[in-house]
Amino acid sequence: MINHCEKELPYEACGLLTGKNGIAKTIWRMKNIDQSPVSFSMDLEQIRRVFEIIAKTDESLLGIYHSHPTDKAYPSAEDIAYSNYPNVGHLIISFSSKTPVVKCFQINGKKVIQLNIELVD
Ligand SMILES: [Zn+2]
Repeated sequence: MINHCEKELPYEACGLLTGKNGIAKTIWRMKNIDQSPVSFSMDLEQIRRVFEIIAKTDESLLGIYHSHPTDKAYPSAEDIAYSNYPNVGHLIISFSSKTPVVKCFQINGKKVIQLNIELVD
């Protein structure tokens, strides 16, 4: 995930995480059709194809990630305004400092709650 976001700098990168029982197993690198350093939009056709593939597995959508090339790891006003998935984790990978920072949030309407994440293998 961090590698993907690093590769797309200076633009924002975005993607989906799917898995089960709260454990993400698959990373789906998505295209940022905005090609912008301050925003991202996913290609609806590409999202549709991912959902089509995971429908045939036991995985479901657990998270949506995107990077902030220069901003901190906190949802921007736009991230909150355009978020339509209150039940998945919104991960933000920030490159504003030397070491990338990953944080995860639940965005429900205007309410933002930070969620704990941990690495499992
Ligand atoms: Zn953002």
